[in-house]
Amino acid sequence: MILMKNTTGKRIWIVKNDSQKTAVIAAELEQLCRAAGFVFDEENPEIVISVGGDGTLLTAFHDYERQLKTVRFIGVHTGHLGFYADFQEHELEQVIETIVHEKPSQAFKYPLLKVQIKFTDGRVKTHLALNESIIRRASKTLVADVKISDFLFEKFRGDGLAVSTPTGSTAYNKSIGGAVMHPRVRAFQVTEVASLNNLIYRTLGAAMIIAEKDTVAFDLENADDYLLTVDQLEYFYDRIASVTYSLDGGEIAFVNGGHTGFWHRVKNSFIGEVK
Ligand code: NAP
Ligand code: MN
Repeated sequence: MILMKNTTGKRIWIVKNDSQKTAVIAAELEQLCRAAGFVFDEENPEIVISVGGDGTLLTAFHDYERQLKTVRFIGVHTGHLGFYADFQEHELEQVIETIVHEKPSQAFKYPLLKVQIKFTDGRVKTHLALNESIIRRASKTLVADVKISDFLFEKFRGDGLAVSTPTGSTAYNKSIGGAVMHPRVRAFQVTEVASLNNLIYRTLGAAMIIAEKDTVAFDLENADDYLLTVDQLEYFYDRIASVTYSLDGGEIAFVNGGHTGFWHRVKNSFIGEVK
């Protein structure tokens, strides 16, 4: 049976996706939260519970990306085990127990990617990415001078370039041949999307792991059809002069209580049983 013991009055909010299965699980979770004495506070929660998939946690993150110093996240997956969604739907009582006992000082923190766009007219815009940010063009070849902390490294030609956080390494990054990184490694990575390589054009042709201290910039040629993604969000921009990436976007905090180690999750998601 669930706690009727001394409750904490912690301020929580639930972010969910719109699947029917999630609706059932979220309703059950909501009841348990009330029974545990949590206070529902959409504006200023201490803990945001995401119910759905990893994508739902990304949504929750962007909903609260201006409150990251005071918010801690916890994810419930209403399917298979997720990367950010560490609990499964049959573990709701454990979710409550975990929230009751968690302390801010024990939260797990992971670095975020700062994405700074400079437009040709001098304007600057900043985004934060939890998984990755990808720059592409709608149809033509993207051409970019790739600079690592101002050092001109290569001229990239191809479909696009993806820059991923450690926790984002298992997402889009992995699909395009990037390395899976343990999230305790403080570094980020640049991965090519369909680079052109022939006798005239030359890129490294491998994913690059960038040290935390460095920045990566893509100086772009003048074009009006750039598409920039930041996790699940899409921005259509014209006249971008450059995009600069760094791992100093602050951190996301997760409630301490996750019970599945990183490589277990990787195996669980991508390998399955070893025969
Ligand atoms: P989605 O199309 O539902 O996501 C694609 C898949 O990526 C889903 O299975 C999602 O898990 C999973 N995913 C998300 N973050 C992950 C992570 N850090 N590690 C491992 N898997 C992860 O779109 P979405 O749910 O809004 O998520 C957006 C993210 O999806 C993007 O940031 C991008 O990384 C990824 N994506 C990947 C591809 C690809 O690999 N070709 C294509 C598009 C988008 P859930 O089912 O649990 O949500
Ligand atoms: Mn999804």
